[in-house]
Amino acid sequence: MSDVERNNPILEGRHLKKTYQLGHAKRNNPILEGRHLKKTYQLGHANVPVLLDASLEVQQGEWVTILGSSGSGKSTVLHLLGGLDRPDENGGEVLFHGESVWGRSNKNINRYRNTEIGFVFQFYHLLPELTILENTTLPSMVGNSTMSTSAARERATTLLEQFGLGHRLLHRPRELSGGERQRAAIARALINEPSILLADEPTGNLDEDTGNEILDVLRQLHQDGLTVVLVTHNMDIASRGDCIVHLRNGVIEHPATVA
Ligand code: ADP
Ligand code: MG
Repeated sequence: MSDVERNNPILEGRHLKKTYQLGHAKRNNPILEGRHLKKTYQLGHANVPVLLDASLEVQQGEWVTILGSSGSGKSTVLHLLGGLDRPDENGGEVLFHGESVWGRSNKNINRYRNTEIGFVFQFYHLLPELTILENTTLPSMVGNSTMSTSAARERATTLLEQFGLGHRLLHRPRELSGGERQRAAIARALINEPSILLADEPTGNLDEDTGNEILDVLRQLHQDGLTVVLVTHNMDIASRGDCIVHLRNGVIEHPATVA
């Protein structure tokens, strides 16, 4: 072969690098994880064991639904994951980006609860004396949020308008329908731009059509990139997530087995 030919290759690969993203590699980097969670409540002298060994992984941008019957411990799981309640002593761990939540100082647990997590509850939990706008800005005034009052009002207004409540800003919760209250509660959950939304039977108090509207709002947020963990006892609702797990007898079954 002549020198000229060697310097003019018809096809050449130079310093090629290629990494394949295997499914399991991605799954080893969850944004939120509950590991072997245990929780027993004390009722007088009686112990009520609720979670025996519940484990769950949530990937960034995923929507995980936990399906379980009433009393199975769904709210308990969400409270542990979201920093609202502690697991038992030696009762497993909650990890956010691989770091223990309950191993942090109280200040850091508060920060986690207030800025990384948004909560939506079945019964909205809006404060009746406050307007919808005030309810929505409230989490931005708690703890170590760095948002100014005017920025919080602006963001709250934008969120409420996005959820069709622009004309309700100065109303009290009692003047709103259930669906409107839940949309306001979702706006409140998003005010601090959380990484994860934890939704505890968010349609449980609503008729089917209104419930579907709320699920559409959540679906849109999820499509925009929000990570969602939703608990429900309703199979129809559960089927909307990327991934369904079943909470039964104190453990989370993978994959869900639906009786
Ligand atoms: P779910 O949300 O699936 O209905 P929960 O997590 O609310 O279930 O409750 C699971 C069980 O734990 C129920 O039997 C409930 O009565 C009990 N429980 C929940 N919270 C407490 C508490 N603070 N004190 C005592 N028992 C509780
Ligand atoms: Mg519950």
